[in-house]
Amino acid sequence: MAGTGLADAAAWSNWAGNQHSRTAAVLRPSSVAEVAEQVRSAVEAGERIRPVGSGHSFTPVAVGDGRRMDLTRLAIDVRVDIDRRLVTVPAGMTLRELNVLLAGHRLALPNLGDVDAQTVAGAISTGTHGTGATHGGLATFVEALTLVTGTGEVLHCSAAEHPDVFDAARTALGTLGVLVEVTLRCVDAFVLRAHERPTSLGGVLADLPGLLDAHDHVEFFWFPYTTRAQLKTNDRVAVDDQPLPRWRSWFDDDFLANAVFAELCRLGRAMPTLAPRISALSAWALGERRYTGRSDAVFCSPRRVRFLEMEYALPREALAEALDALRRIIDGLPFKVLFPVEVRFTAADGIWLSHSHGRDSAYVALHQYVGMPYEPYFRAFEKVATGLGGRPHWGKLHWRDAGSLAPAYPRWHDFRRIRSHLDPQQTFTTPYLATLLG
Ligand SMILES: Cc1cc2nc3c(=O)[nH]c(=O)nc-3n(C[C@H](O)[C@H](O)[C@H](O)COP(=O)(O)OP(=O)(O)OC[C@H]3O[C@@H](n4cnc5c(N)ncnc54)[C@H](O)[C@@H]3O)c2cc1C
Repeated sequence: MAGTGLADAAAWSNWAGNQHSRTAAVLRPSSVAEVAEQVRSAVEAGERIRPVGSGHSFTPVAVGDGRRMDLTRLAIDVRVDIDRRLVTVPAGMTLRELNVLLAGHRLALPNLGDVDAQTVAGAISTGTHGTGATHGGLATFVEALTLVTGTGEVLHCSAAEHPDVFDAARTALGTLGVLVEVTLRCVDAFVLRAHERPTSLGGVLADLPGLLDAHDHVEFFWFPYTTRAQLKTNDRVAVDDQPLPRWRSWFDDDFLANAVFAELCRLGRAMPTLAPRISALSAWALGERRYTGRSDAVFCSPRRVRFLEMEYALPREALAEALDALRRIIDGLPFKVLFPVEVRFTAADGIWLSHSHGRDSAYVALHQYVGMPYEPYFRAFEKVATGLGGRPHWGKLHWRDAGSLAPAYPRWHDFRRIRSHLDPQQTFTTPYLATLLG
């Protein structure tokens, strides 16, 4: 079942606990025909349907005001074409299940984000991404998909079949219909060597072009109130030659990255004046380490410290200016920021509502520990990011609406045309999505 904190089947909330909904009907179709039947029945009743994934979006994208559709019981045969490295899965499969499935066939996704709890449909629908200057987000790995539209039609699309629908539907926030099946282009399974090291923000920005050229995957964290940053690069290597000892990986990933950090956050929330020292301590505690492992195990790690997040995709050349403005914003806030700022990179793609549509991007993610004030912080950066041509992550907090977003997406009006065609009765709209997309 999607989401967390369920009191009963009708109640739903997201991972962060900041979005809730309640419904009179939870639909759990077990076949594509049943999805189509349930869509037609909702249309006849004049009711709306909201498909949900794992509830890992911070925005109300998965909050519905009609019937909620949970795809976890949808039975679709998994098909694996080893020679072409194509894998077809039910859209409601989680990335964690997918990674295990792929590993069993010696395949992998070319890139992943920080966690693997999301469903395939949920991840692609909001433009979920990892980092890598030459890698697109997860939706760029989609080779084909099957959608049940707002008329109950089952539509299969790819670059060759309904190419416009394909470009619109790979990232569509659940507004074109229910994704039931997704075919993903995979690569041979690979091992990554991770190298994490402390550095300075100035140093990492000065070296950035060289770092992006030299490494497959680059990201860094900047610690507010300090000049310190933690740089992480991941590169493909032939063998798993430096696995972290089990206890060490537990200590670093779980204990240090979650349990100790959770304590520090609680302390900082109770005594905000300590935040600058906590930030410096967090930067200091993360030393240098190198390790290798199966790609998905290196890309993804558990996140048990709850937070709220906003993330903006910026034209890559605007990154230094954005971070400079962000430093001034944080220093001027009437409250403190406990989480580091995360910076990642993606390559340009052609998906109409992708944050990286038509341009290489740098993503700047702001986090704040649950229960701490965040809105003035996020809003102040949103103003800067908007001025720099930024596009907000569809699954992470922001306050933009259709009027302000349309100029940021060259294919915005094409998307709206496809949407009116596929969902004429607006069965897949919600009040939030009406404001967001018009
Ligand atoms: C701890 C954490 C870590 C994260 N890390 C990253 C990261 O590294 N990179 C990144 O880019 N993002 C990240 N995110 C954001 C997350 O990847 C996205 O919000 C993603 O959409 C969540 O997927 P989900 O399965 O939970 O979908 P949900 O949040 O449940 O739904 C997302 C959207 O997909 C639609 N949808 C779901 N299923 C279907 C379907 N079958 N058909 C049509 N529409 C559907 C929903 O209606 C909704 O609009 C993170 C979020 C959290 C909480």
